[in-house]
Amino acid sequence: MTELERKQSQVPVPSGWDYAPAPEARDIVQIEDRYGHFVGGEWLEPRETYTTISPASEEPLAEVGQATPEEVRGAIEAARAAFENGWSALPGSERAKYLFRIARIFQERSRELAVLESLNGGKPIKESRDVDLPLAAAHFFYYAGWADKLEYAFPNRRPRPVGVAGQIIPWNFPLLMLAWKIAPALAAGNTVVLKPAETTPLTALLFCDVVRQAELPAGVVNIVTGDGRAGAELVKGAVDKVAFTGSTEVGKAIQRELAGSGKRLTLELGGKAANIVFDDCALDQAVEGIVNGIYFNQGHVCCAGSRLFVQESIYEDVVKKLKRRMGTLRVGDPLDKNTDVGAINSRAQLEKIRELVASGEEEGAEVYQPPCRLPEKGYWFAPTVFTDVAQSYRVAQEEIFGPVLSVLTFRTPAEAIEKANNTPYGLSAGVWTEKGSRILWMAERLRAGVVWANTYNRFDPASPFGGYKESGFGREGGRHGLEPYLEFD
Ligand code: NAP
Ligand code: MG
Repeated sequence: MTELERKQSQVPVPSGWDYAPAPEARDIVQIEDRYGHFVGGEWLEPRETYTTISPASEEPLAEVGQATPEEVRGAIEAARAAFENGWSALPGSERAKYLFRIARIFQERSRELAVLESLNGGKPIKESRDVDLPLAAAHFFYYAGWADKLEYAFPNRRPRPVGVAGQIIPWNFPLLMLAWKIAPALAAGNTVVLKPAETTPLTALLFCDVVRQAELPAGVVNIVTGDGRAGAELVKGAVDKVAFTGSTEVGKAIQRELAGSGKRLTLELGGKAANIVFDDCALDQAVEGIVNGIYFNQGHVCCAGSRLFVQESIYEDVVKKLKRRMGTLRVGDPLDKNTDVGAINSRAQLEKIRELVASGEEEGAEVYQPPCRLPEKGYWFAPTVFTDVAQSYRVAQEEIFGPVLSVLTFRTPAEAIEKANNTPYGLSAGVWTEKGSRILWMAERLRAGVVWANTYNRFDPASPFGGYKESGFGREGGRHGLEPYLEFD
């Protein structure tokens, strides 16, 4: 026996690679026991409160205000005063300085903000750290750059700010959606009242501290917290523009409420995106894109690739590889740096996911979940895939907003288009193929605001984002994202 052979026979071959826990420290962020509403640069003691929790442990985190109609009105008045008393008249180059400052503070305090985002919302720390925070900072940097160039962005149209914007955001990307709303509004010279989602108010409240640190004039940004009732008051109030991201149902109600009022409106609503995989694609790369498309942020993503269309000739291969890859996803503590899939945002959302998954089983689809041990406390749902799905099933029609994928098949590009467009939504789509010409052919025919090619869930502040049909109207991001916040001659 050679020396090498002897050595090899003595070293035990590792049978698996176990992860050790790698928790991110949570003491970087200081959570107050109680928060009020941030109005006119001051914290106002709230008349009513509720408790916000961590969805991963159900542990209470803080008492937060439930804004009353008077409190919402007060916030709108503060925003109006700030608009009239100087903010709208400030040179764009001055407004830009504040936005640049906020962007830089986001970078400096990114760990603190990321930990709080994961704690209050349940998303994995590696996502809030590597996606939400860098993108939120990038958004402020990007719109800071436009603030003094509005006349070049819209030549010969004399752009002017609209006034006070009422902004309502959801719980899936709390700080990022705040950035999407506030950065363009301020760059264009408006002031805002923003209401975060009931379940995820804490990063918006920490943002008030960022606003103070940046020495933004009082009243330019006002934050009121509370449930949908506070949102409805904001819509009804004396605002000039409403920007809403959330469910199609609430979006339609807002549109009805505002009809004939002359208030401007943009709606970014739900989706049921098609992720389309052709047989000439780079298969392993596509499988990564499928996983990222639906299990990123627990599938709480309006543009999630929740309907997977696979060309028939590679169907078995794709499903086999996908299931194998799903087995390596780590579900658990959002603050663990190894975690891929965190907690479901709320009990209500968990129940909605369970109900839709049960309907899929009843209607006859084949369900698969990789073996994984879910924590006992908190709200959890294992990554799930449905095969044998018919287009009529609810899991192929309705937005689940959870880590649940439905797999369907197609034979020709024309059939893929027909099936992909067979949805009331039209927010996003994905195409996986080696052929550039086919990507363009597909992108022209897909009724979706965003079409990703050989990638998925990629965002850039320079790129406009928004929907067709029941996914809403108006664009956020890019030069297009300024338009809803401007009036023209
Ligand atoms: P939602 O009720 O539409 O929530 C969006 C925002 O609107 C939240 O801040 C919400 O407050 C507020 N709101 C609720 N009712 C309102 C009203 N009548 N007037 C004004 N604002 C109101 O959505 P959800 O209940 O959180 O989630 C339900 C479904 O919506 C999800 O399952 C998913 O399908 C979809 N959704 C889509 C997106 C997206 O990015 N497009 C994001 C989130 C959810 P509360 O937080 O108190 O409800
Ligand atoms: Mg709601």
